[in-house]
Amino acid sequence: MKKVAFYTLGCKLNFSETSTISRQFEDRGFQKVDFQENPDIFIINTCSVTENADKKCKKIVKEAKKISPDSYVAIIGCYAQLKPREISEIKGVDAVLGAAEKFRLHELLGDFAKEQEAKVLASEITEAKSFNNAYSINDRTRTFLKVQDGCNYGCAFCTIPLARGKSRSNTIASVLESAREIASTDVKEVVLTGVNIGDFGIVEGKRQERFADLVFALDQVDGIDRFRISSIEPNLLTNEIIEFVSRSERFVPHFHIPLQSGSNTILRKMGRRYLRELYEDRVSKIKTLMPHACIGVDVIVGFPGETDELFLETYNFLNDLDISYLHVFTYSERANTRAVEMDGVVPMKKRNERSKMLRILSEKKRRKFYEENLGKTFTVLFEEDIDGGKMHGFTENYIRVAAKYDPMLINETKQVTLDYINDAGNVEVLEPEMVYEKY
Ligand code: SF4
Repeated sequence: MKKVAFYTLGCKLNFSETSTISRQFEDRGFQKVDFQENPDIFIINTCSVTENADKKCKKIVKEAKKISPDSYVAIIGCYAQLKPREISEIKGVDAVLGAAEKFRLHELLGDFAKEQEAKVLASEITEAKSFNNAYSINDRTRTFLKVQDGCNYGCAFCTIPLARGKSRSNTIASVLESAREIASTDVKEVVLTGVNIGDFGIVEGKRQERFADLVFALDQVDGIDRFRISSIEPNLLTNEIIEFVSRSERFVPHFHIPLQSGSNTILRKMGRRYLRELYEDRVSKIKTLMPHACIGVDVIVGFPGETDELFLETYNFLNDLDISYLHVFTYSERANTRAVEMDGVVPMKKRNERSKMLRILSEKKRRKFYEENLGKTFTVLFEEDIDGGKMHGFTENYIRVAAKYDPMLINETKQVTLDYINDAGNVEVLEPEMVYEKY
């Protein structure tokens, strides 16, 4: 039995795809092992957004060859699509597969026999037209279910459309099938994943279905406690979806909404499809209906043309907004994007300073959000995340809690009352048995 190991860089989508590819191997009789367990084959799933993607890729290949010098090494993923030739020249790489090829490893690489030269099987990204269903089963608690891939938006800083192609989706019927499969396992939470999931519904180049209808349909699937919408563009987060989530028992009150900048000047330069007023309106709609909802924000600092004044517009906008945490990205130049041609390059030192300011703001926001929810009762899904006698889990509105370790609670949901914020920044709960006799 040949042994295969996987290494994944990047986002939830990559994790869902690696997991599905690993099941393809297992179905064909391969044994899935850890990276250190002398695999015969390594599959490395790369990311184009990761800083120093090339260096990381080289390092992982080197490590793999150290562990199993005679192993077969195949590189897939976004970076493989963007730079197939460069990657094929890395010592130790046997094959590079692009976006249209990565789900066809067995068909294209046969019995993974090593050849003199590395194989490069990466067609133009325009060839990546079909949707490949994927979901992760890495831990028992939650799964990332891919419902959409690619993007038609073309933001000035982004390489994802070049690495993943045009927007395309699974059908509602097929997502429901996967959800039912997942429901028959022990998994309690499904995170809907994609590049631009609000754009769900394009099949073979034509809009056929709507994201809102997918949400309504999934809400009916029995056997899954929670659905989480991973990240959705503000212009696609409609009142219909927000109102539905506010009434749903299963879709949790947690929204992650990319903002990228709080300055309309920069939003226009980025080619984003909304202005800050729309963003503000989305946050206010959510908070009016669900005052306890968690709202996460993606923001980029140091985009070309971001002067001190424009950065302060972003800072003040976020400071005044009722949001719960930030994911801060420091802008970095990417080949073949419109942004690299733009004037007004922000020195790296400034980018880093701005990033630090927003990270501090994020901590303040998170703490305030946690404080507002102390004394309230929520449902926690406990994970196998044990540290110093404590176990951890997330509430439906994404508050990380710590409770006394109880093995019976792993992968179980339980109602708890939030007590206080501990030194590690997690929320301690009133001892469950003191609050509820039985759940
Ligand atoms: S919406 Fe913009 S940032 Fe997001 S994937 Fe599409 S092009 Fe990239």
